[in-house]
Amino acid sequence: MVDVNRGSALGLSGASELFQLLRDGEPRTRASLAQTTGLARSTIAARVDELMQLGLVSPVADAASTGGRPPSQFALNPSARIVLAADLGASHATIAVTDLAGTVLAEHSERRDIAEGPEAVLGWMVEAGRALIDGLGRDRHDLAAIGIGVPGPVEHSTGRPVNPPIMPGWDRFDVPGWVQQHLEVPVLVDNDVNIMALGERALAWPQVEHLMFVKVATGIGSGIISGGMLQRGAQGIAGDIGHVRVARGSDVPCHCGNRGCLEALASGPAIARALREQGIEAETSNDVVELVKHGDIEAIQAVRQAGRDIGEVLTACVSLVNPSVVAIGGSMARAGEHLIAGVREVVYTRSMPLATEHLTIVQSAAAENAAVLGASMLAIHHALSPEGIDALAAR
Ligand SMILES: [Zn+2]
Repeated sequence: MVDVNRGSALGLSGASELFQLLRDGEPRTRASLAQTTGLARSTIAARVDELMQLGLVSPVADAASTGGRPPSQFALNPSARIVLAADLGASHATIAVTDLAGTVLAEHSERRDIAEGPEAVLGWMVEAGRALIDGLGRDRHDLAAIGIGVPGPVEHSTGRPVNPPIMPGWDRFDVPGWVQQHLEVPVLVDNDVNIMALGERALAWPQVEHLMFVKVATGIGSGIISGGMLQRGAQGIAGDIGHVRVARGSDVPCHCGNRGCLEALASGPAIARALREQGIEAETSNDVVELVKHGDIEAIQAVRQAGRDIGEVLTACVSLVNPSVVAIGGSMARAGEHLIAGVREVVYTRSMPLATEHLTIVQSAAAENAAVLGASMLAIHHALSPEGIDALAAR
C-alpha cells in the first residue's frame, strides 16, 4: 500500500502523491484508487480532477462501458508534457524530444567534440533542443525537464562533472545552472554509462530490479541498477570498472598511470594495439569490429580474450551485486557473440553457482539508443516524482 498521506508531511500536495500510483500508465478507477490508498472517494475524485486539469491524467475508454456512460478509468497521459534528452559523447552528440513514456518524438544527431568546452556544447544543445520542440509544434512551456549524459564522472546531486579526463573545461562546471539560464526547467546530469543502464532497462528489462550495463568502447565502464535504483555511490564513481587490474595485464601501462588495468587490455583501442603487434592494421574499435565481421581469426581471438578479461572483473561484480542481467553495450559489443562468449566463459566458470543460476549475459538491446533513452528516463523520473509534479503544478 502506498502512503499517500505522507505527502502532506513533506509539504507535497495530495494530487502529486496520488499521481505516483497512476504514473505507471495502468488504467485505474476512482474506486480502486480509493481502495488502494484508503482515502475517501470524494478526496480521490478531487485529486484526480486536479491531475486532469494539469493534463497529466486522462480518461481511458472503458471497454465494459456502453450507453454513453462517462469513462470511469484514468491513466497517465504520456503526451501531456515533453522532456529533452541529450547524449553528449566524446565526438558525437544526440539530442531527442520524448514524451513522458520515453517515446522519441524527434531526434537530431551530429559530430560534436565534447572538448569544445561546456558553453559551446551546451549552447548547441539548447539551440538544437529548441529547434526540435518548435519543429514538433509544441509549446516550450510543455518542457518538463532535461536529462543529459556526459562521458565522464558527474557529481549527480549538483550536476557538475568531476575531473573528467576527456572533457577539458568541464571540471566542476555548473551544467544545470548554465542550461537553466536558457531553459528554465530541472536539469539532471549523469555519466553516459549510468544513463545507458537506465535506457537498457527501460527498453528491454522493465521488470528487472538488478541489472548491470557494461560499456566496452574506447573505455570500459558499467552502470549498476540494484533494487530497482541506479547506484551511483558516494562520489558518482560506482561501476567504474575500467581500472581494475586483470591477471593477464601485469606490465601493460594504462593512461591512468597504473599498469594492468582492464581498459588497457580489453578496450577497443587496446585490442587494436594487440592486433597491430601481430602485424594486422587496426586503430579503432570500428576497425576491430570490421575485422571480426570479415571473419579475421586473429581479431576474433583477440576479442574473445578481451571478453575473458572483462569476465574476470565481472565475476567479482556478480559476487558483489548479484545481478540477474548483465547487458554488454558500447561500440565493441557490435563484435557480437565473440565478446559475449568470452565474458560468459569466465563468469559462468568462476562464479558461485547460485549467482549464475538465473544470470543472463547478453548484448545490449538498446544499442546506440541506450544513452539518449536513458537521458530521457533520468528527466522523466524527476518530472514525475512528487516534487516534480508539484513544481509543474506551480508553474
Ligand atoms: Zn588504468
